[in-house]
Amino acid sequence: MKYTSTRNNSLAVSSSFAIANGISEEGGLFVPEKIPQVSKEFIGELAPLSYKERADKILPLFLTDYGEDEIKGYTSAAYSDNFEGETPAPVKCLRRGVSVLELWHGPTCAFKDMALQLLPYLLTGAAKRELGGKQSVILVATSGDTGKAALEGFKDVDGTKILVFFPDRGVSPMQKLQMTTQEGNNVGVSAIEGNFDDAQTGVKAIFTDPAVKARLAENNMSFSSANSINWGRLVPQIVYYFSAYADLIKQGVIENGDKINFTVPTGNFGNILAAYYALKMGLPVNRLICASNENDVLTEFLTTGRYNRVRKFHTTVSPSMDILISSNLERLIFHLLGDDSDETKKLFASLSENGEYTVSEELLGKIKSVFAAGCCNDAETVETIAKTYKENRYLSDTHTGVAIRVYNDYAERTGDKTPTVIVSTASPYKFSKAVLGALTGGCFKSESEFDMVSELEEITGIPAPAPLRGLKGKTPRFTGVCKKEDMRKEVYGLLGIEG
Ligand SMILES: *Cc1c(COP(=O)(O)O)cnc(C)c1O
Repeated sequence: MKYTSTRNNSLAVSSSFAIANGISEEGGLFVPEKIPQVSKEFIGELAPLSYKERADKILPLFLTDYGEDEIKGYTSAAYSDNFEGETPAPVKCLRRGVSVLELWHGPTCAFKDMALQLLPYLLTGAAKRELGGKQSVILVATSGDTGKAALEGFKDVDGTKILVFFPDRGVSPMQKLQMTTQEGNNVGVSAIEGNFDDAQTGVKAIFTDPAVKARLAENNMSFSSANSINWGRLVPQIVYYFSAYADLIKQGVIENGDKINFTVPTGNFGNILAAYYALKMGLPVNRLICASNENDVLTEFLTTGRYNRVRKFHTTVSPSMDILISSNLERLIFHLLGDDSDETKKLFASLSENGEYTVSEELLGKIKSVFAAGCCNDAETVETIAKTYKENRYLSDTHTGVAIRVYNDYAERTGDKTPTVIVSTASPYKFSKAVLGALTGGCFKSESEFDMVSELEEITGIPAPAPLRGLKGKTPRFTGVCKKEDMRKEVYGLLGIEG
């Protein structure tokens, strides 16, 4: 199976090439040329299997140049006791006809672990084949969750080094502590003076600097990318949509062949795009419901066909969804245009030049036949967390709170009774302040992050995940704050190269 690019559909490369390189040369995203199809029997056979075994059935359909045994080795390492509990992606009943797929039992307590625990293996395997065994250097600019998940995934992985930059004043106290206490011999973490855009711009500049690339090449190293446009981040996410469906069969909630809905709290459109690939492979899906916070650019696009990033940016209680440019949407549009890269290129040129694009009525029709969309503000999110806890004894984080709210509105508006899975993307304890505030009406006994975790535990009787509890009292290992112009020096320092 070959991969092509959303901006040059004459390209045909292997999955290893796509994963090792991250993004195509002309700026397009790698996509599968043909989407593999599965039968009803195939899906039925997943029901008795473990998560790892389900992954072993699905991943080889896309990663045809990896050996099946190679993949089995990778999934054994990625989906084992680094996830708390019996399975990495449990499905729990919220209320009759509505379930929750929890994707946050990994080492960093957010759904990005589902992909980033596996990606380092996929990447080093690919680098052996495609980059002549050069050492992979991963640079990440993060606004919070991605940085920590990438660090945990790549720590002590042979043949890799990882350096994460985060904005000094742009991450939550818990997120900062998670990163600055990171263990591992191949990792570096640095705060930078400035905001997330400064970190992102700095990383991009280094990534594309020919002088830096040449220095790396002299030292038998090469840059790779762990961000969410890498196909190696998307393909592991397809697995849990099948896994959730298989669990619903096992639980007797549905019969094989019944259609279900998924509601996904969305930012960069990676998670929900994986659901779309699952649907296109043959998973019986009725609607994909895209949930946004006050940054409602996707709600507008999916309902009107106009994407307009020129709007106010809102900082919300669900920060991982505070995004105005959803990069992975480009893949959906390419597919809906019948894999037309010329047309895709035009739309995205318009986005970067004019800040907007509008798709045809025909394409909007195709979107609406699969997607529904909605958004809510912080007050509605917090109200929903409180209500869901009170009525269903289910404690959700803020991102999941957005999804529950948007689904409830959707169900009321449409009367759709299709069994629905709400995708839960983070532990409530990762956003303790907002979640505790939702339950106490905004009263806090203490402003300390760990006191809030303890109070939330006392009120709900639900223990915080071990990786977050374990942070208490840990001494930060990376305390440096570097200036924007010193980021290159930091990179050379970590790699042990003279600058
Ligand atoms: C990254 C993230 C999201 C958004 O996922 P996308 O794939 O970017 O749409 C939602 N919730 C949490 C907790 C996240 O970390």
